[in-house]
Amino acid sequence: MINGERTISRPLRWGMIGGGRTGQVGYKHRTGALRDGTYQLLAGAFDLDAERGRDFGTKLGVAADRCYATYQELIAGEAGRPDGLEVVSIATPNFTHYEINKACLEAGLHVICEKPLFFTVAECEEIEKLANENGLIVGVTYGFTGHPLVHQMAAMVNKGMLGDIRIVDMQYTHGFNAGDDVGAGEAVRWRTNPKTAGPTFVLGDIGTHLYYLSEIVLPHMKIEKLLCDRKAFIPTRAPLEDHATVLMHYDNGARGRLWVSSVDAGNMGSQRYRFVGSKASVEWSDSRPDQLIYEVQGEPNRTLHHGMPYLEEESLAVDRMGALHTEGLGDSWSNIYLWIAQAIDAKNRGDEAFLKTHHYPGISAGTEGVRWLENCVRSADAGSAWVDFK
Ligand code: NAD
Repeated sequence: MINGERTISRPLRWGMIGGGRTGQVGYKHRTGALRDGTYQLLAGAFDLDAERGRDFGTKLGVAADRCYATYQELIAGEAGRPDGLEVVSIATPNFTHYEINKACLEAGLHVICEKPLFFTVAECEEIEKLANENGLIVGVTYGFTGHPLVHQMAAMVNKGMLGDIRIVDMQYTHGFNAGDDVGAGEAVRWRTNPKTAGPTFVLGDIGTHLYYLSEIVLPHMKIEKLLCDRKAFIPTRAPLEDHATVLMHYDNGARGRLWVSSVDAGNMGSQRYRFVGSKASVEWSDSRPDQLIYEVQGEPNRTLHHGMPYLEEESLAVDRMGALHTEGLGDSWSNIYLWIAQAIDAKNRGDEAFLKTHHYPGISAGTEGVRWLENCVRSADAGSAWVDFK
């Protein structure tokens, strides 16, 4: 169980680029980072609007002279200080990720970046090389993948409790873009423009969460082929999609399907996962994150609750709240930030043996998400044809 006891020798000197007052995801980063004494928020270039960013930063407790107008000023200003930053989180729109990652890594800063990491796998590979050459960690924040019941599913699959995995069924949908974009705010405008969002809208925005979570639960299974059908129900969003269905063939013969949509009218937002094996199935949804449905063929169905001693040790080890209290998204983000802090600490100490066995969403998690998106787009653009996964 995680109880807030510090697991690295001192807090990391941490800053943020983006995630300002009006940003959607910034507070989730701070919720994750500032929980276990592993990060100290010391500087930021929080906002495109420099004045608003400075005002916001000081209200977060950051010194005014360390609230910078741009990320370039942040890098230059912090480089000159004996107590300068060592790790930066990037919570800005997708099209800025690559250039900000590159600049931070060149300046010797570890990076924690939002998904989708970059536009292309080639960019991911270039950034991975740069990080490796400079001895730095790149972490990626897939929100719910630190939840104890996600790790319960992974442990059950790993221990053969479901038998051979046959079917993967996933959904992440909401209805918040069911109407058109007239008068839409900044976060919708950049998400629906290929110049700022990249080659996808909902596939990258929410589909990558499904894909990475399935990689955690099914690390032994690789996609061999996929077929993606995507559509913009609101025509102004084309060529980007606001709805997509993906079919997947895995190398063990399993079949997968998922759908992602932001035009699922009336749906307030839900991700749902069902992994079906030859003996049993598990099903988990973020609308009831404390519960895992475990169904064994021929037996009464069971509902497993987080934090209970009957769970696997892999799940109990990352539980924070204990069984009596609900555990959710903020707790999951804290686990992700903790694991990345432990990776940065090990990298700083040159402890490669620790890094070999330590689980955290690193650059390969970001790269595989972008690779999956590239394959989806290739399939969709070929008229929803089956394509070999490469
Ligand atoms: P947003 O438009 O709501 O907020 C972006 C923030 O970044 C704003 O504060 C803006 O002023 C600031 N900003 C933009 N460009 C900047 C720059 N060059 N320098 C400094 N600050 C800058 O966007 P959002 O919804 O918060 O999304 C940001 C990123 O987070 C995207 O990549 C998105 O895909 C991702 N995201 C991830 C999750 C998750 O669960 N992991 C959830 C939401 C968004």
